[in-house]
Amino acid sequence: MREVPVAEVRDAEVTIVGGGAIGCAVAYVLSGAGYRDIQVVEQGELAGATSGQAAGLVGQVRATRERCLLARSSVAMYSRIEQETGYTADWRQTGSVRIATRAERVAEFQALAATARSAGLEVDFLSPARLAELCPMLDTTGALAALWCPTDGYVQPTSLVMAYARAARDRGVTFATHATVTGLSVARGAVTGVRIGQRAVSTDLVINAAGPWAGALARLAGVDLPVVPVRHEYFVTEPVTGWHAGVPVLRIPDLRLYARAEGPGILCGGWEPDGLSLDPREVAIGQELAVSPDWDVLSGFAAGLAGLAPAVTGAGVRAVFRGFPAFSPDGRFIVGPVPGLRGLVMAAACNAHGVSGSAGLAQHVLESLQPDPSPYVRSLSPQRFLPRTWDWQIARDQAKQVYQDYYSLPPPSTPDR
Ligand SMILES: Cc1cc2nc3c(=O)[nH]c(=O)nc-3n(C[C@H](O)[C@H](O)[C@H](O)COP(=O)(O)OP(=O)(O)OC[C@H]3O[C@@H](n4cnc5c(N)ncnc54)[C@H](O)[C@@H]3O)c2cc1C
Repeated sequence: MREVPVAEVRDAEVTIVGGGAIGCAVAYVLSGAGYRDIQVVEQGELAGATSGQAAGLVGQVRATRERCLLARSSVAMYSRIEQETGYTADWRQTGSVRIATRAERVAEFQALAATARSAGLEVDFLSPARLAELCPMLDTTGALAALWCPTDGYVQPTSLVMAYARAARDRGVTFATHATVTGLSVARGAVTGVRIGQRAVSTDLVINAAGPWAGALARLAGVDLPVVPVRHEYFVTEPVTGWHAGVPVLRIPDLRLYARAEGPGILCGGWEPDGLSLDPREVAIGQELAVSPDWDVLSGFAAGLAGLAPAVTGAGVRAVFRGFPAFSPDGRFIVGPVPGLRGLVMAAACNAHGVSGSAGLAQHVLESLQPDPSPYVRSLSPQRFLPRTWDWQIARDQAKQVYQDYYSLPPPSTPDR
């Protein structure tokens, strides 16, 4: 595969800060929509932060119609990106199964299925026999319901990011890596440039796709936004009999777990009941956000999965992936122009959907720049947090709660899960 050639930082009409899934998806989408003179500035390597750690699960069954539609449009992109660009995202349409082990969960699945169908998504409840046929490696005797989405699957996140980047590069976007934006220049209510080390660069439009650092970047322009990093991790085992790349993606919300095959091994992660967040005020530009594997948490995931997949118990752990995906206090994306400061546009707070939803989110960023965005896209505007009347500690607690409630019952009031 051809690498993305790296360029020097330069003056550019559009500067996208962050070379993760969101920054590269935005570069691809904007360059395809007629924007010219775009550069992506990345402090490390492309996909080197949160995106490269993601599990790559792409689920379209969501609590709201808008989120289903966003996920559907993303899947459509992953299915066609190779044909469209010549670069693969390693998309595998394995289908996904969501398993209920509690009666209350079945009602939630029925509501999810109705929402999915209203968004044109094909979903079905599997009979016990069909479930056993699709997932022979599982003991599904405790399953009360199994919701099947045949068009779900997973990508390899780094492949997806590189596919966006290579395709954007072919359209003239330049990529500067190992270049940290340390300042934003503002004059007469508009962004006029960015500072990268000693270099001052002129630019009219800054897209803030800085992932868990997006709050720190906005603060460079005096804008307070509640972008809260919350730790997330999963493990991948050595080969386990019965697991292979075609196995459907599994979600077992009653156990707060997800799993899929990674090659011949099991990939398993989950949502902790007591997450670990960072104080967004203390996340500094360029700061390394290191995470050590938390073996208590990871072995809790394995113990949970063992009820369905006993073979996980004896399997050695091959790798642990981890990072700090960014959450917002209301569990909704923060996307669109910052009111009162021309030229600063947010593409942040992905609430752990930033890989799966990157294609649709980038479309939302594009739409937010156009004259008449849809009510849904308008509702994602950073405006809802500006000027700051909220409290940092409360915002941090709420964002952590969004993480913890990812699979909780009853569904949280968050309308955008
Ligand atoms: C363990 C784990 C599992 C996950 N699983 C999934 C999953 O299955 N599906 C899913 O959709 N999501 C998943 N996520 C969440 C997903 O990874 C994120 O939502 C997504 O990566 C966010 O993409 P991003 O581009 O916003 O952030 P990032 O990938 O973090 O990219 C932001 C980039 O900005 C750069 N940057 C920051 N500040 C500056 C600066 N000042 N100057 C220059 N560059 C800067 C950073 O170096 C970084 O590369 C998972 C996350 C983790 C940690």
